[in-house]
Amino acid sequence: MRIILFGPPGVGKGTQAKILSIELKVAHIATGDILREAVAHKAELGIKAKSFMDKGELVPDDVVIGIIQDRLKEKDAVSGFILDGFPRTLPQAEALEKVFEKERIKVDKVVSMEVDEEVLINRLTSRRVCRNCGSIFNLMTDKLADMKCPKCSGELYQRDDDKRETIERRFDVYLKQTRPVKDFYAKKNLLVDVDGIGEIGTVTERLKTVLKGAPGKG
Ligand code: AMP
Repeated sequence: MRIILFGPPGVGKGTQAKILSIELKVAHIATGDILREAVAHKAELGIKAKSFMDKGELVPDDVVIGIIQDRLKEKDAVSGFILDGFPRTLPQAEALEKVFEKERIKVDKVVSMEVDEEVLINRLTSRRVCRNCGSIFNLMTDKLADMKCPKCSGELYQRDDDKRETIERRFDVYLKQTRPVKDFYAKKNLLVDVDGIGEIGTVTERLKTVLKGAPGKG
């Protein structure tokens, strides 16, 4: 099964993509995670990407398209994948179409997670990530004693791009550059909206329900 998980920053794409990739036994491909890892390792890619990420801007298309082209060739992605955070611009969506055509594969569904902007801003500013295991928590909903990770006791931190002024910039970027990608897939009859408000498990169930009808299932 090949899915694109779409939606504004902070909607919970990463959390849901992780859960669904395990349940559906497909690769979870998140350009944000790949870029953050490159930044942490001070890899050439990370050095190129960091200034854009810190400002809440998009990393140039050629950089992320290159990442995706390479990643889709890896063994675990051959039987299926969930794309999380890609494509984020029309040129990225068009480049992805070309990759799919070349590989003779088709995306089964593009699921757009929908949440009110105010809810998202609160969610993002209270998001914390474990430096050790990468788990994501929220100050509003998770009990976080001593700011340590409840799973591995690692240090919890706030991503630079989750700070308020950066979030406002990310939203602006989302509306101007990413939102048009939704129409691109709507015209192809691949798009389905899912309400992203609610408990993690509730949203997962909603996503699974819409994916059950997807052609690549089974
Ligand atoms: P995310 O974790 O998906 O919110 O991504 C974090 C940051 O990585 C974004 O704010 C962008 O700076 C960069 N990024 C991730 N995916 C893309 C993409 N498809 N195109 C451009 N920049 C991206």
